[in-house]
Amino acid sequence: MESQISELRSVINDSDNIVFFGGAGVSTESGIPDFRSTDGLYNQKYAYPPETMLSHSFFMENTAEFYRFYRDKMIYPDAKPNAAHFKLAELESQGKLKAVVTQNIDSLHQTAGSRCVHELHGSVHRNFCMTCKAAHPLEHILESGGVPRCVCDGIVKPDVVLYEEPLDQNVLEEAVSAIRDADVLIVGGTSLNVYPAAGLLQYYRGNKLILINKSELSCERNAALVIRGKIGEVLERV
Ligand code: NAD
Repeated sequence: MESQISELRSVINDSDNIVFFGGAGVSTESGIPDFRSTDGLYNQKYAYPPETMLSHSFFMENTAEFYRFYRDKMIYPDAKPNAAHFKLAELESQGKLKAVVTQNIDSLHQTAGSRCVHELHGSVHRNFCMTCKAAHPLEHILESGGVPRCVCDGIVKPDVVLYEEPLDQNVLEEAVSAIRDADVLIVGGTSLNVYPAAGLLQYYRGNKLILINKSELSCERNAALVIRGKIGEVLERV
């Protein structure tokens, strides 16, 4: 592991055009469970699988049940950024990292100080009335019981991309452009199972793809460097 970390350190030292692409594994060290680890959401028992409860049709047909699961398992208002979030923010402030592309909805990158963050799946911190489009903070979701309503009585929906919903086109284009222009692409804490997000890797044209993940990934043979470990622990040693 030490030699891989020193290789990563030298790649980072030599570049001022790094992009980071990450997923739920980036936030597990902040106490937010991912989906596919053994202690992740897929291995907990619910009446429906998470993919069903986090789908657009489930939201429309079972809104109260959606919110019960969502409040219980998708919102972590007390979570704090970990060493991975802070290191990426530091690399951006040093002019080395150009963008973070994340599948996460917790906005911990911004809390850590990152400014250029493309949130492919939205954020729990933004919520909109489905009728009048008024914006509502996360507190409104947390404090209201049952289905959160707007002053106009419309249902409030999180600005989170649910299964069956398309990604925001502007965010997608910005993410593609960042990845396409990157010299170094660091991919961390994602199983690369959720599409179309995982497909964005195909836009990378460089030869310095770095994977940092706790478990094995199927695309490892395309990587210049693979580090099997916890991303916070790895990045804080760089
Ligand atoms: P995933 O659960 O499918 O995969 C997570 C990957 O990260 C796994 O391969 C796991 O081995 C690895 N991992 C876990 N902890 C790690 C750590 N400390 N260091 C390095 N690797 C670690 O997650 P995904 O690929 O992001 O896809 C799941 C979808 O659900 C995405 O849309 C994701 O954003 C969303 N989700 C988001 C959050 C969040 O916002 N924090 C939490 C759960 C799920």
